[in-house]
Amino acid sequence: MTAERAADDLLAGVPTGVLIDGVWRDARGGARIGVEDPSTGKVLLEVADGDAADMVAALDAAAAAQASWAATSPRDRAEILRRAFDEVVRRADDFAWLISTEMGKPLAESAGEVRYAAEFLRWFSEEAPRISGSWRRSPEGTSRLLTMKAPVGPTLMITPWNFPLAMATRKVAPAVAAGCTMVLKPSELTPLTSLLFADLLQQAGLPAGVLNVVTTSRAGEATLPLLGDPRLRKLTFTGSTAVGRILLSAASEQVLRTSMELGGNAPLLVFDDADLDVAVQGALDAKMRNVGQACTAANRLLVHESVAEEFSRRLSAAMSGLVVGPGVEPGVQVGPLIDARAVDKAERLVDAARAEGGEVLTGGHAVPGDGHFFEPTVLRAPATAAFVQEEIFGPIAPIGTFAETDEAVALANSSSYGLASYVFSRDLSRVLDVVERLEFGMVGVNQGVISNAAAPFGGIKQSGLGREGGAEGIEEYLETKYVGLAP
Ligand code: NAP
Repeated sequence: MTAERAADDLLAGVPTGVLIDGVWRDARGGARIGVEDPSTGKVLLEVADGDAADMVAALDAAAAAQASWAATSPRDRAEILRRAFDEVVRRADDFAWLISTEMGKPLAESAGEVRYAAEFLRWFSEEAPRISGSWRRSPEGTSRLLTMKAPVGPTLMITPWNFPLAMATRKVAPAVAAGCTMVLKPSELTPLTSLLFADLLQQAGLPAGVLNVVTTSRAGEATLPLLGDPRLRKLTFTGSTAVGRILLSAASEQVLRTSMELGGNAPLLVFDDADLDVAVQGALDAKMRNVGQACTAANRLLVHESVAEEFSRRLSAAMSGLVVGPGVEPGVQVGPLIDARAVDKAERLVDAARAEGGEVLTGGHAVPGDGHFFEPTVLRAPATAAFVQEEIFGPIAPIGTFAETDEAVALANSSSYGLASYVFSRDLSRVLDVVERLEFGMVGVNQGVISNAAAPFGGIKQSGLGREGGAEGIEEYLETKYVGLAP
């Protein structure tokens, strides 16, 4: 079979409707959304363009399924997740190709996303049977205090385009483990991976109505009625801080449980005692995963002034050697940005850097021709430049300098975001001191990739609320009930 034929067969197997109560069907209005390959601008498939009525139908199904789903045994829920894990792993190449085709990242990175995404299924299959409560005597000895856990209930999940599989499994897996039903709304830019995953979960034995999926081109208008519906008990959102604020405000009407995984502006600190090979590799990893379109992407490289020259030279050499092209082509290391707006933003940020005294060391331009490509770019710019307060979300690495540890920590913390941060140093006591003072939910030490299904992922400040993954991840989908028992 030719590669083209295999691709056509794979696309033909992706469901393109809305999934409601276990049935794939067209959107009520019959409208469709074209899903484009960002490397070519070509439409790959059309999917259902659901509206508010489809969303409400999805919540009807989720609400109807909640009680029976909550009553299933943890082991049964665990086994569904475990079968889904095995199946995602078996179809890893299909998922990787689909991610690269609709989102643009190189195949090797997509394969990494599939492994990471699948781990949430395995991890939460192991967490499901461990949901527990507690027993203690009251301090006065007059009562027994019991706690027990119950699923939060029907949950609306809104996911972004940058990790089409992992952002879905990071929410769906703990919700399944906890016994919550769901309405999933993937991004209209990359819905295909989520649709294939939802289909796979049905085949793994997830009962009808537990996971409902609605794709839409009118995210705000379509989801708003759900946020005001008393049957919905939780909103979990991954996306920009701007949209997170709108959703938090709308969620206040029903005082919904919320989990918010929002934007980031990660500092990456390189001290004078750092192993520069490790620091440059770490910076490449932290900056270039997903062409910089990751909430954990290094946004501000802060380097001690004594090693800044050498670090900049080595990072520029590494960045300028990266192979840019369509993610599905062999040997490509940097794919396209998601759309034309992202390229415009990268150009605007390079101009802003120059206006603030920055100097482009390599890259700095959009790549002419089809697709939304931008050159891997390294800049020297003042560490206090205003443009780095914005989430870059592209392949631009701005390097600023510092002289003292206190200055480095103050610069790192001077952001309204608090998601990921990175420290490169061989001095353990310095590392521990800096780690304690960084106002971020996550710190990578001498490494540029920190995501792991077994770790609590999340941010502080305007980067969000709650944690995904780790032992903490399932708690986001559980309520604690306290029972006071007379002795
Ligand atoms: P986005 O524009 O905020 O969109 C995220 C999701 O929200 C998409 O499904 C989008 O739908 C939907 N949406 C947009 N406006 C909405 C509204 N008014 N009401 C309800 N839903 C709405 O973010 P993005 O551009 O997709 O993703 C990039 C952002 O996500 C970055 O800021 C990045 O840092 C953040 N992110 C954070 C994490 C984390 O774990 N903290 C992980 C990944 C990404 P459509 O796409 O269909 O419009």
